[in-house]
Amino acid sequence: MKYAESDAAINTEFQLRAIDDVLDELFDDELLKRVLVGNLPLYAAEQDKTPFSTHAFIMDFYNQSAARVVGGSDSIATSLKNTILRYGGTVKTQQKVTKIVCDEVKATGVVMNDDCFMAADAVVSAIHPMRTLELLDTKLIRPAFRRRIHAMPQTVGGFSVYLEFKPGVVPYMNHNFYGYAGDTPWNCEHYTEETWPKGYLYMHFCHERAPKFAHTGVILSYMQMEDLQPWWGTKVGRRGDDYEAFKRRKAEQLLDALGKQFPDIRQNLVRYSTATPLTYYDYTGTEGGSMYGIAKDIHLGAAGRVPQRTKVPNLFLTGQNINSHGMLGVLVGSIVTCSEFLTAKTIYDQIIQSNQGE
Ligand SMILES: Cc1cc2nc3c(=O)[nH]c(=O)nc-3n(C[C@H](O)[C@H](O)[C@H](O)COP(=O)(O)OP(=O)(O)OC[C@H]3O[C@@H](n4cnc5c(N)ncnc54)[C@H](O)[C@@H]3O)c2cc1C
Repeated sequence: MKYAESDAAINTEFQLRAIDDVLDELFDDELLKRVLVGNLPLYAAEQDKTPFSTHAFIMDFYNQSAARVVGGSDSIATSLKNTILRYGGTVKTQQKVTKIVCDEVKATGVVMNDDCFMAADAVVSAIHPMRTLELLDTKLIRPAFRRRIHAMPQTVGGFSVYLEFKPGVVPYMNHNFYGYAGDTPWNCEHYTEETWPKGYLYMHFCHERAPKFAHTGVILSYMQMEDLQPWWGTKVGRRGDDYEAFKRRKAEQLLDALGKQFPDIRQNLVRYSTATPLTYYDYTGTEGGSMYGIAKDIHLGAAGRVPQRTKVPNLFLTGQNINSHGMLGVLVGSIVTCSEFLTAKTIYDQIIQSNQGE
């Protein structure tokens, strides 16, 4: 593990060249090029837009080790919570931050659920930067910064069908399955009512170490927030029968697509439930229900970067939008933000030390 003394935005060649551009230079075989980006839904890559560095960063992670969290990824949240408690911290749930309060020079705390003020020496916001800006009413944040954040492109939204299987009938698949209706993984975010779904990701969840049969799984496909326009402004569980019918229709379409590769899928199901970009928007605040937050775009250069620091000196940003998407991106982003408090050297030394101790 290495760290740089400077956090200046580095725009190397591969941050400024698109994935397809680099693959075109390296390979002639069209099928090989498409196979190499077969798992691009993991980072919602778009042609002539997503930097090669994003592909390389995530592929390297997967090439070193593909992994699932035994028992489900909520065990990460539980573990994090236990660590915070062990060090004397408190974890509050059902407490939506509705305002980040600032005086003339810095943040002084947050208001939760519109009525409870909590004073703070520093505030770290791990939500979408547009949502963070909505919580801030201070001259310290310049209008130009607000405009830049608002103008940034978002990754596409997602539609998920969560599956519960009958016991002992679906052999556990220790890999992801990517299905495409056409002959390319590219451009699945551009579809019509007739051509959806152009692609999907199918995976099983891992309930125990080395399971023989899967209990649950998910099918995930792209979906644009515009498709949900009739239900904008509605709340979870209260969107109406037509929304439920829309979700059922889409789930059945996805099951039809999956059934071409896994013919037994329907008869192996106990039930399924669904989530749309509106669901993700309501639960996480991600703009447009985007799966991975702000999209990387080679054409934006430094303007496409969300800094971990803000003009409010004790307000910091973290999460998938400041570095990169997904679990890996969030981990790296956390180190970047925590470096503001502890220095990168201290964190890296501690990580190396703790790895040596194992
Ligand atoms: C369907 C789907 C499947 C995915 N699969 C994978 C995968 O297999 N591997 C992978 O690496 N990545 C995956 N990702 C991406 C990954 O989930 C995200 O990149 C990651 O969760 C982002 O983490 P975050 O901490 O930045 O934000 P979030 O996980 O969105 O966390 C933000 C939290 O802040 C809370 N919050 C929002 N507003 C407020 C407020 N005002 N006050 C208080 N709390 C607030 C939200 O409730 C949420 O808990 C997937 C994404 C989706 C949508």
